[in-house]
Amino acid sequence: MKELVQAIKEQGEILDGNVLKVDRILNHQIDPNLMDKIGNEFYEYFKEKNITKVLTVESSGIAPALMCALKLNVPVLFAKKTQPSTMKDPLSCDVFSYTKHKKNTLCVESSFLDEEDRILFIDDFLANGEAFKGIETIINQKGCKLVGVGIVIDKTFQKGHSYIIEHGYDLLSLAEIKSFENNQLEFFE
Ligand code: 5GP
Repeated sequence: MKELVQAIKEQGEILDGNVLKVDRILNHQIDPNLMDKIGNEFYEYFKEKNITKVLTVESSGIAPALMCALKLNVPVLFAKKTQPSTMKDPLSCDVFSYTKHKKNTLCVESSFLDEEDRILFIDDFLANGEAFKGIETIINQKGCKLVGVGIVIDKTFQKGHSYIIEHGYDLLSLAEIKSFENNQLEFFE
């Protein structure tokens, strides 16, 4: 997605540990016009898949997931990273956070997923695929179907990208980063 790649080139900053900082458009401040276009790209690609729910992880996945869910006219459900006391019957999975370097327990209220659900998972970044695998586990616990994966920024040189492809999921990544070599962002265009 040209406009997204352009925004990343203009606003992104490479930090240690293969971390890309995009706090001006996605992870802290959010660009609503860009988010609207991102939602539309996901919608156009996945619209024939009879999706019944968009699932994401708090907090930075919510904006792109919501924009897409609005166009698909389905609910958006976000996995929480700690279990609130109000959650009575959680589906859960421990995952290692790439940026926070600690374990989170992703949880989703079981009654908000249905065995018949056809799920689109959307997230802001794909790195080693830990968040994805957590969501995959939760979906499998409920027995519903993961029919697509939408990623805003995919660091394809890390493990998550090949895991998703090798497991046969339909993946759409809107900005695919090839490498961070010599502190330069290289994209597949
Ligand atoms: P994974 O679980 O695939 O290893 O990492 C994905 C999660 O870690 C994303 O939900 C995102 O929050 C965070 N993340 C991974 N890589 C980056 C990055 O380069 N920049 C930022 N801002 N977040 C990242």
